[in-house]
Amino acid sequence: MSVIAVGSFLPPPPPYRRIKPRFTTMVSLRSDAVSVAETSSILRKLKEECATPLPVLRQVADAMSADMRAGLAAAHGLPMIPSFVEDLPTGNEKGLFYALDLGGTNFRVLRVQLGGKDERVVATDFDQVSIPPQLMSATCEELFDFIALGLAKLAAKDDDRLNLSPGKKGEIGFTFSFPVRQTSIDSGILVKWTKGFAVSGAAGRDVVACLNEAMERQGLDMRVSALVNDAVATLAGAEYWDNDVAVAIILGTGTNACYVEQIDAIPKLQGHVSSSGKMIISTEWGAFSKRLPLTEFDRAMDAASINPGEQIFEKTISGMYLGEIVRLVLLEMAATGELFGKSIPENLYTPFILGTPDLCAMQQDNSGDLQGVGSLLYDKARVESTFSARKTVLEVCDTIVKRGGSLAGAGIVGILQKMEEDSKGVIFGKRTVVAIDGGLYENYPQYRTYMQDSVKELIGSEKSNNLVIEHSKDGSGIGAALLAASNSMYKHDF
Ligand code: ADP
Ligand code: MG
Repeated sequence: MSVIAVGSFLPPPPPYRRIKPRFTTMVSLRSDAVSVAETSSILRKLKEECATPLPVLRQVADAMSADMRAGLAAAHGLPMIPSFVEDLPTGNEKGLFYALDLGGTNFRVLRVQLGGKDERVVATDFDQVSIPPQLMSATCEELFDFIALGLAKLAAKDDDRLNLSPGKKGEIGFTFSFPVRQTSIDSGILVKWTKGFAVSGAAGRDVVACLNEAMERQGLDMRVSALVNDAVATLAGAEYWDNDVAVAIILGTGTNACYVEQIDAIPKLQGHVSSSGKMIISTEWGAFSKRLPLTEFDRAMDAASINPGEQIFEKTISGMYLGEIVRLVLLEMAATGELFGKSIPENLYTPFILGTPDLCAMQQDNSGDLQGVGSLLYDKARVESTFSARKTVLEVCDTIVKRGGSLAGAGIVGILQKMEEDSKGVIFGKRTVVAIDGGLYENYPQYRTYMQDSVKELIGSEKSNNLVIEHSKDGSGIGAALLAASNSMYKHDF
């Protein structure tokens, strides 16, 4: 059967329509007294609509579990993409393996010498290059030649610690985070490019075949053993060090979650023969949309996006969007004339002028007069701010970040409780690890705290003692190499 694997990332800022705040033309008519009330009423309404009290979190978690189930049956619900990864790393993997990662702005290539249970990762070597912009609209051959060349360069480097067994081909784990229709562990048809890529002649083709042809042109005799997305690679990488890892989450520009599922709990894979009886399922939870506390600002952002109505959970919780939601709120507040005086800072009309790292930087400002918030607002919006305006801006940031982190936590509980319902005790009856990677989770302490608080509130302190949420930093590179090992064409006993 064929399934559509939707990549966990979205395109970079598209040519957004300029969203005019409702009050723009009225600014000069308003007295300050009216504006003060208006600004605070915008904030009050925002806080009410973004609130995530326990009943809301519970509904989101329950709806997530239900949508996972529906997706596994292929009825409706989440995409729930079978990854065809059926064997997780055991720790016994031995030999030299490669990993390629094409997904965001960077292309990474890694090689790792695995030494089995005792030695584990003996040596690694990696290269990272940003993808030249012109390649994003080049031909399929040009893009894959670039990848194969990067691989060839790394493979050609002499390193005593990194050795391929005589007579064996180099094997590759390929992390490719674009929408792929996957039918086996080592093949997948590109459905469409995202994230600003417009490479001609690749859509509808097997990306593994494209890479194989490019490697042949480079005279490289290597083979792709595993094609995966970044969440799946992260799970594999984390599981290698800790057998209790059951779930992996990406919280970066976009978001995705995957987990280990029993084959007989996947109705849409009926008849699939599996030796392990398990498979990693990529939930594609960014597509989730039920019971979310959304506002007019979310709706405006969605309407102006290149994929209106899609990826609503992703648009509420992931790094690409949190800053943009805050910008829309500030624009509306500015239009009341109070936040930044009588004029609306022109820069605030520019989509994505505020990034999530900006919200994060402002929230780390501990100075008494919020000097850091003031200078960031000046840098980004070219606007002088009063102390009271800075405090309001911080409250807006906190409201949006709290909602995002809390909902991410509810999503995690949704996955855990679905697994627990299927097999009592498998999650909450023992130590369970959720591995998380991505720039948003890694760099935003408030987001992390809100997420953890939400998980704890939902499952209670007793169960949360057994639950470990850990940062699996860059685990996806080693993870992809490990999956190349477990799916090696050569006979192995790991
Ligand atoms: P990708 O998801 O493209 O693979 P990363 O996992 O590196 O990329 O995450 C990058 C994203 O993380 C950025 O788009 C941004 O939203 C978020 N991010 C990066 N740095 C910070 C920061 N300091 N504070 C908050 N968010 C950040
Ligand atoms: Mg990434």
